[in-house]
Amino acid sequence: MKDTPKYQGLRKQLVEKLRSKGITSNKVLKVIENTPRHYFMDQGLLNYAYEDQAYPIDADQTISQPYTVAFQTQILDVNINDRILEIGTGSGYQTAILLGLSKNIFTIERQHKLFKKTQRLLKDLNLRPKKIIFGDGYNGLPENAPFEKILVTAGAPEVPKELLKQLKVGGKLVIPVGINEQEMTCFTRTSIKTFNKETFGKFKFVPLLNNKI
Ligand code: SAH
Repeated sequence: MKDTPKYQGLRKQLVEKLRSKGITSNKVLKVIENTPRHYFMDQGLLNYAYEDQAYPIDADQTISQPYTVAFQTQILDVNINDRILEIGTGSGYQTAILLGLSKNIFTIERQHKLFKKTQRLLKDLNLRPKKIIFGDGYNGLPENAPFEKILVTAGAPEVPKELLKQLKVGGKLVIPVGINEQEMTCFTRTSIKTFNKETFGKFKFVPLLNNKI
């Protein structure tokens, strides 16, 4: 796979579109400009890589819409040394965006086929999360907690308690909450016992599943 001037040009246009839709973080826009989304798409859909839309990937899942990736990443407010847990590795595109902002990334995927495929792809691209794990993100990753940031990229019917527990004080959990559609929600841990909750409007995600794998 390679990057080309054509794809780079399309990425610049995508970044302008995201800016016009209200994304303001230059840090986030820069990493989107520098990350080839076509590496993470199904081969048959390469021509659509820089459309601002979600597309199917393996196991009936989707690669998130660029606007959604930008929006969630902007709310997450990543600092270079943040230890970050992503739930829902999927295509690996959001993982790659996070790796452009911090080297301390942990990611979990529950679909085995996607896990295997994306694990190989990230390796081939020389992108190295600290861990990429096959498992159920509902449980978080207690052995590597606490995290400064946790990002959930699937729609959660309810907020998993374990994820709140695994946040550092001052840390943030960004999670789309709801069943048919989701409210983008950010919990900031303000003390051991208290959380501040903010909401950012409606989105549509594939479901966060917690039945047995
Ligand atoms: N970040 C991905 C989005 C993929 S869609 C991307 O940019 O491509 C959401 C992903 O969450 C899917 O791959 C789905 O299999 C995964 N998922 C759903 N429930 C999960 C769970 N309980 N634990 C971990 N991953 C889960």
